[in-house]
Amino acid sequence: AEATDMQVFNKLESEVRSYCRSFRTVFKKASNAFMWDVHDRRYIDFFAGAGALNYGHNDDSIRKKLVEYLMSDGVAHSLDMATEAKESFLVKFQNVILKPRGLDYKVMFPGPTGTNTVESALKIARKATGRTNVICFTNAFHGMTQGSLAATGNRFKRGGAGQPLGGTTFMPYDGYFGEEQDTSLMLGKLLDDPGSGIDLPAAVILETVQGEGGLNLASPSWLRSVERICRKHGILLIVDDVQMGCGRTGSFFSFEDAGLSPDIVCLSKSIGGYGLPLALTLIKPEYDIWRPGEHNGTFRGNNLGFVAATEALRFWENGQFQASIERKSVVIGNALKRFAANYPELVKETRGKGFIQGLVFHKPEHAASLCAEAFSNGLIMETSGPFDEVAKLMPPLTIEESVLRQGLAIVEQGLDRLQA
Ligand code: PMP
Repeated sequence: AEATDMQVFNKLESEVRSYCRSFRTVFKKASNAFMWDVHDRRYIDFFAGAGALNYGHNDDSIRKKLVEYLMSDGVAHSLDMATEAKESFLVKFQNVILKPRGLDYKVMFPGPTGTNTVESALKIARKATGRTNVICFTNAFHGMTQGSLAATGNRFKRGGAGQPLGGTTFMPYDGYFGEEQDTSLMLGKLLDDPGSGIDLPAAVILETVQGEGGLNLASPSWLRSVERICRKHGILLIVDDVQMGCGRTGSFFSFEDAGLSPDIVCLSKSIGGYGLPLALTLIKPEYDIWRPGEHNGTFRGNNLGFVAATEALRFWENGQFQASIERKSVVIGNALKRFAANYPELVKETRGKGFIQGLVFHKPEHAASLCAEAFSNGLIMETSGPFDEVAKLMPPLTIEESVLRQGLAIVEQGLDRLQA
């Protein structure tokens, strides 16, 4: 069946297509944490649209709002004109997300994708400080265009296109040299030293957990130390919460635990609620310095995205959703710890936090085999890390606990198979 299923794609779609190679089937429908293919095979989704589906596939109440909006001739596209849909989103985002957390940000819509919010953040930090350099970290992933790519660690992702736009300096992320070394001290010292050869940067950009880079987790104390360095040198702190935001690590923003106060926050993926493209750049009011039109673009106001995003914020209206994420994260964490203990020849360690956790393999090919084995047993998950050595579990936050346990059992079954 596979050969015929994939024929059209093989023939008509560019060779750069990638996920369809790991998941060799044609999908047709999906509901919460399940996907079905054209052969009516059911899969449990531990991939969640690369983090764009924190609220699952086809959330019923979001879908109703979308259908209602469509049927009422709601404006679908209007560049960044003021619309009712945008107004509702802004008010709800203010009331449900920013106000209760004591956060004061202006909201910018930079374009439809995560890459767009990162680009806008880098640009505005450069304008605000008059500096060019940006500090970024080993194994960071920030996007696929020339500016965001210049802040992305993985050489392969440059697509053989040579040097992306420069003006970045890579520093070791937390834990890069092992747990004993506090790499923020290195950053602090290099920036204090006029002889270090490093230009004082406009910004430091970081992920609190590196989603693509191997689920490396920055400690709250390291994050606070980086923030102090930023304050000392007038550097803007940008947190790229494109993948870790919207509850992935447990709280709405991934930096809440550490108590950071980023100058700019990048949000995309799950903020669109239903897998619809939407991105937000949150900017401290003092850095909201662009004049009208200085950062333009056609798709900066996806009204269907606003409708979906507004309804998705209902999950954050009380503490229940967050409590359920925390409860189910323990199930994931305990299972992975048990797997690491039971399969020490395969698994080196566990990594991550909340609903983004994974198994680090001694040999990358074992991570790939586990994902392939899982897929043949009806579970979708992918690898991450510089060597693709990490099997990454990233289910929708709305997954039912029983389905979560079924998925984890498939992972265990795969490990058992690999061990044999
Ligand atoms: N930043 C981070 C942390 C990401 O994980 C991603 C996407 N994986 C991006 C930026 C880029 O987002 P997009 O693919 O929507 O452009």
